[in-house]
Amino acid sequence: MKSSVYVDNNATTAVAPEVTEAMLPYFTEQWGNPSSMHTFGGGVKKALDAAREKVAALLGAEHPNEIIFTSCGSESDNMAIRGAVDAMGGHPHLITTRVEHAAVLGPCHYLEDKGFRLSTLEVDEKGNLDLNKVHEFSISGKKTVASIMWANNETGVIFPVPAIGSIVKQGGGIFHTDAVQIAGKLPISVKDTPIDLLSISGHKLHAPKGIGALYARRGTKITPHIMGGHQERGRRAGTENVPYIVGLGTACELAMERMQKDAMHERKLRDRLEAGILATCKGASVNGAGTERLPNTSNISFEYVEGEAILLMLDDIGICASTGSACASGSLEPSHVLRAMDVPRSMLHGSIRFSLSRYNTDEDIDYVLEKLPPIIRRLRELSPFAED
Ligand code: PLP
Repeated sequence: MKSSVYVDNNATTAVAPEVTEAMLPYFTEQWGNPSSMHTFGGGVKKALDAAREKVAALLGAEHPNEIIFTSCGSESDNMAIRGAVDAMGGHPHLITTRVEHAAVLGPCHYLEDKGFRLSTLEVDEKGNLDLNKVHEFSISGKKTVASIMWANNETGVIFPVPAIGSIVKQGGGIFHTDAVQIAGKLPISVKDTPIDLLSISGHKLHAPKGIGALYARRGTKITPHIMGGHQERGRRAGTENVPYIVGLGTACELAMERMQKDAMHERKLRDRLEAGILATCKGASVNGAGTERLPNTSNISFEYVEGEAILLMLDDIGICASTGSACASGSLEPSHVLRAMDVPRSMLHGSIRFSLSRYNTDEDIDYVLEKLPPIIRRLRELSPFAED
C-alpha cells in the first residue's frame, strides 16, 4: 500500500519546510515581545513588520498597516462582520449567500437572531450567484454589510468578487469577502478591487494552523472584538503570535513566487483526475463544472453511493479526501453547498472533494485513479437504489 496520498488541501495544508525554518528562530532565539522598548524586542518588531509587508504584497494591499493579524480564518470572518456591523451603528442590512463557510454563516445568523435583517442569496445549479439579486439588496437605500466569499471551499467555484464589490460599494455598503480558499492560489489585488475587508487563513496556504489575517482598507471602521492593548493599531489586542506571523509572511512570499507554477501544476493534475474518474466511474459528475473554479479543487458526486463509505474505503488504502467541509464531517447531513446548488437527491450523499496542493504528484493521481473505480463499483453493487 502506498503510504499516503493527501488530497484534502482545502481542509488544511502541509506546513512548507521553508515556513518551519523561518519560524524556528522566533521560538529559540528571538522570543522577545515586539512591544518592548529594548533592542531585543525591537528585532522581533522588525520581523513582525516584514511579515506584514509580505502578507500585504500577496493581497496587493496599498499599505502594510491594512493587515491585521488574527488567529485563523474564522476569527477574521467574525471580526469583519461583527466589527463592521457594530462600527456602522444602527441596524444595517446583512447580505450573504447560502454557500458561505460556517465562519460567515455563524456570525450572520447570530446577528439575525439579534434582530438584524439578513438576506441570504441563492446560487444556481452550477454554483453561480445572480448579480441582479446583489444589486436589488444593495440599493435598498439602507446601510448594508455584505459578506460574500471569493472561492467556495467545497466546490472551488469562484464568485465574481470585483463585480459584486462594485455593486455593494455603489449602494454605499461595506463589502467583506472570505478569501480563505483563493489566497495564495490565484492573484488578488485589493487595491484594484472594491473590497473593504478580506479574510485569509494561514493553514490553507502552507503556514501553520492558528494564524490568519484580516485586510481592512484604510478608513474602514471596525469595532475590535478583543479590546485591551494597543497591538495591531488597537484593532486586535493581545501580544502578537510572532513565530506564526513570521510563518504566515514566509508562506505568502512563497505563494507569490510560486503561484503561477503551482496553479498550472494543480490544474493539470486536477483535470487528469476528473477526466479519469468521469471515464471510469458510471454515474459520476463534477459539481460546479463549466464554472470558473479554483485550479486545485474537484467536487465529484457519485450516484447512489454514500460519500462517507467512499471516504472510509479510501482512507483504508491511504487516500485522504473529504466529503465536504471538514467542519461538516461527522454529521450525515448533506452538504449545505450542494443542497443550495440543487444537486439531485441520488447524488447528494455521494460527493467527494479532492483538493490538491503543490506537493501532489502524478503518482498520487495514478493511485487514486487505480483505486477509486473498483470502490465505486463495489459500493454501487450494494446499493438498493442503483439500477445495475
Ligand atoms: N472560510 C473558508 C472558505 C474556509 O474554507 C475555512 C476553513 O475551512 C474558513 C473560513 C475557516 O478558516 P480557519 O480554519 O482558519 O478558521
